[in-house]
Amino acid sequence: MDSNSAAAKIHCVNCGGEFDPHEAKCPYCGTMYEPGAEKQYMKKLDGIREDMEDLNGLALSETATEFKSAVKSTVIAIVLIVGAILLLAGLWYLWDFLRFYF
Ligand SMILES: [Zn+2]
Repeated sequence: MDSNSAAAKIHCVNCGGEFDPHEAKCPYCGTMYEPGAEKQYMKKLDGIREDMEDLNGLALSETATEFKSAVKSTVIAIVLIVGAILLLAGLWYLWDFLRFYF
């Protein structure tokens, strides 16, 4: 039993102290224990990735809303510009027509 728990522990490469493999670093000298550190890092990375996904979802919905409103205002602007051009062209044509005949 005691030998089992001792076998489960690892030795620090720097000071030789025993500590649990799940520790990210040696509790005696602070030397990083790679597998433990990697596990903690991956866990942290998973958390960051989830945060990023949340952020992406949020950014995407915001971008979609912005895109929609941008398209809407662009369409309105085009309609207004085309309408104004048509109105001016019509007025110009009418003016020319009236000037020619009267
Ligand atoms: Zn150590």
